[in-house]
Amino acid sequence: MISQKVISLVENGSAIRAMFEEGAAMAKEFGKENVYDYSLGNPSVPAPKEVNENIISIAKDMDSVVLHGYMSNAGYPDVRLAVAEHLNKLHDTHFTERNILMTVGAAGGLNVILKTLLNPGDEVLTFAPYFVEYNNYVANFDGVIKAVRTDENTFMPVPERLRDAITPKTKALIVNTPNNPTGAVYSEEVIKSIAEVLAEKEKEYGISIYLIADEPYRELVYDGAVVPYLTKYYHNTVVGYSYSKSLSLPGERIGYLVLPDELDDADLIINGAAVANRVLGFVNAPSLIQKVIGKSLDLVTDVAIYDKNRKFLYESLTKLGFECVKPEGAFYLWMKAPGGDDVAFSKAAKKYHLLLVSGKGFAGPGWVRLAYCVDYDMIVRSIPAFAELAKEYGLTK
Ligand code: PLP
Repeated sequence: MISQKVISLVENGSAIRAMFEEGAAMAKEFGKENVYDYSLGNPSVPAPKEVNENIISIAKDMDSVVLHGYMSNAGYPDVRLAVAEHLNKLHDTHFTERNILMTVGAAGGLNVILKTLLNPGDEVLTFAPYFVEYNNYVANFDGVIKAVRTDENTFMPVPERLRDAITPKTKALIVNTPNNPTGAVYSEEVIKSIAEVLAEKEKEYGISIYLIADEPYRELVYDGAVVPYLTKYYHNTVVGYSYSKSLSLPGERIGYLVLPDELDDADLIINGAAVANRVLGFVNAPSLIQKVIGKSLDLVTDVAIYDKNRKFLYESLTKLGFECVKPEGAFYLWMKAPGGDDVAFSKAAKKYHLLLVSGKGFAGPGWVRLAYCVDYDMIVRSIPAFAELAKEYGLTK
């Protein structure tokens, strides 16, 4: 018999993945162009062509034994230095290669830092709604995840609620801005208020509370929104970054952790994270793509494509009477389920071949998430289906 923990993981499955599979089955039955799949956050914009060019030139030019060999658990020193210098240029920080650990995407990075920090029973806070995999990542190390509700309309953190949620067992707070699933981007004022509460509680309880900034969507922002760099606001900040969305490389599994010298127990954390990377079985982030990242730091994805989708979808849906949060970042639209039952609503949507993910799985009941990293034409074709859905719910005649 397999592990009880894994049995429950299998039973609970992933609602998003299940919907993705369902979409594929529906596409077979009704034709791909007649199914409107908003379920998965898989980037629709191709990686910049220079990424492929860099892959080819590195494979051609680099010593094959080195390129395909083992390396230090933290990653190639030259790549880590290049990442550190890139961050310093962008954010006026002072990182060196010692502060960068190359990871297997954001997911790998989060698991590494949680493994490094958590004792069983330690509490990890996060603002709800949130990326549902955090539950699994925290459970991997026998931590206890605690959701802190955000404002019911803006989905911005509320400092008083954070203050009330912190206990002497709190080890970390995971913050994700730009946010999956709401598309919210936290302003500098919000970040400062979070930092203030954490610092106050660290002092009150005599503990270290680590702020983990989960930032796979940092570059995906619209209308000039600014994403503050969190290490500048709070001394105990670890940043987890990924190229899955920013360079459309989710299958390559590459990202990094920033472990600043200002962290309490910085030396232990830096050494511990490298060991955690090894003992979790990652050993090191994939070699070839690390080298590619080292040469691709100035490349960016074409955000204008997502922006066009965002504007059209938001305008079309609000015109039909749906209530949506206008996304400022990432590529998700957070829409209120008319009637309040998100599960029933996403089920009803399926009748019109619309695949929307119910908010329950994000600890955001009453809402649904639409991933608009899809073809613009699919969005255009889907609007009559949304019109039917709006009619069923009495939003339009
Ligand atoms: N964090 C958030 C908020 C995400 O939305 C995702 C992926 O969708 C991840 C982490 C994991 O990203 P990666 O593919 O880099 O592991």
